[in-house]
Amino acid sequence: MPELPEVESLAGFLRERAVGRTVLAVDVVAIQALKTFDPPVSALGGLTVTGVSRHGKFLDLDCDGLHLVIHLARAGWLRWRDDLSGARPVRPGKGPLAARVRLAPDEEGLAPGFELTEAGTQKRLALYVVRDPAEVPGVASLGPDPLAETFTADALKRIVGGNRTQIKGLLRDQKVIAGIGNAYSDEVLHAARMSPFKIASTLTDAQIADLHEAIVQTLREAVERARGLAAKDLKAEKKSGLRVHNRAGQPCDVCGDTIREVSFADSSLQYCPTCQTGGKPLADRRLSRLLK
Ligand SMILES: [Zn+2]
Repeated sequence: MPELPEVESLAGFLRERAVGRTVLAVDVVAIQALKTFDPPVSALGGLTVTGVSRHGKFLDLDCDGLHLVIHLARAGWLRWRDDLSGARPVRPGKGPLAARVRLAPDEEGLAPGFELTEAGTQKRLALYVVRDPAEVPGVASLGPDPLAETFTADALKRIVGGNRTQIKGLLRDQKVIAGIGNAYSDEVLHAARMSPFKIASTLTDAQIADLHEAIVQTLREAVERARGLAAKDLKAEKKSGLRVHNRAGQPCDVCGDTIREVSFADSSLQYCPTCQTGGKPLADRRLSRLLK
């Protein structure tokens, strides 16, 4: 799933290639992906892409003040195409193609653009055509962006204070902090040497400062690694940069202990017992509930 660093990189990638170009058309193939109807998606045709930005994990294409907002969800991806002029029209069906954004041809006659795809059967990729990005409910409810200057250790202290949820869940909650998902919350907690099950409100000031540093540094490093990469190379880069996420059974880079996995919410999390939980493996709550 693309998280803040990947979406930030995709925004930069699109900014370089699409800004200044005219939108020929946006073809929505997966009808259920389009969450808005007014203005219609056809209103984007003929407008110029004037900016590309990111809100949390949302991509925002500003087209002369009309916004195409994209959420790639868990299995969505963006594929740049140097020339879509020969692309065949696609009928709605079961394929991975959700939408195609076609841009006007350049002097050489190439009509570039990009395709949004979504693997698997659970279709969650979402598209919105709005006059203001804040009209998208998921954007309006976003918590602070962890890369913003205003996201200080004090700001984090206000967030965790009185919050009785487990820190892993809190980091993933888009309404609390924007842009962090399952992968980077594992990475942040490993960097902060903190148990994912720790209750947010029990953090000391020193632990909040460590967590703040881990959040900012982990995301900044990932953004830096992803910067300038082509969209097609981003997934491999994300995978190679992860230290605990999806690495259960492999040795921890820091201490050599074996990285473990435990179920959490709708998926699973990975962590290093020596670095994060005083050497003790976490109990799998889902499993223990079943055994009761
Ligand atoms: Zn370790």
